Amino acid sequence: MHEWSLAQAIVESVVEAANNKKAKRVKTLEVEVGSLAMLDKDIILEAIKTLSESTKLEGAEIKIYEEETKFRCKKCGKTWSFNEEKEEIEKRWEDSKIKDEYGTDDLPIHYFPELIFTMTSCPSCKSKDFEIIGSREITIKSVTIEV
Ligand SMILES: [Zn+2]
Repeated sequence: MHEWSLAQAIVESVVEAANNKKAKRVKTLEVEVGSLAMLDKDIILEAIKTLSESTKLEGAEIKIYEEETKFRCKKCGKTWSFNEEKEEIEKRWEDSKIKDEYGTDDLPIHYFPELIFTMTSCPSCKSKDFEIIGSREITIKSVTIEV
């Protein structure tokens, strides 16, 4: 699972940083997940907690935030959110009745996040020249340690 390997990388870098600072333990950890990354926050939290057992991160207060991804049209300057865009694409998807390889008509964005870039366009001027504001990744936002 993708979430577990990301959690592993987070735990490793936090523990390494805590060791470098000669911390007794990590008190709090804040992690930010871009909504476009399509990661399950509960799984990440569970994975971090499990993987931090018997490390300096064990017992820390861990918070996972979701950062909403936005788009900005380079032509007219309109900004719109990923969630609005998802609804729009879901509507279009239902109209088109395309089936995926499993024979369902579920939106395949979950499997192919990149699809959103080929299907999206500015809601006001229909331009496909847009930029993404926000993260498609998972990042460590803050760590506090006890020395
Ligand atoms: Zn536009």
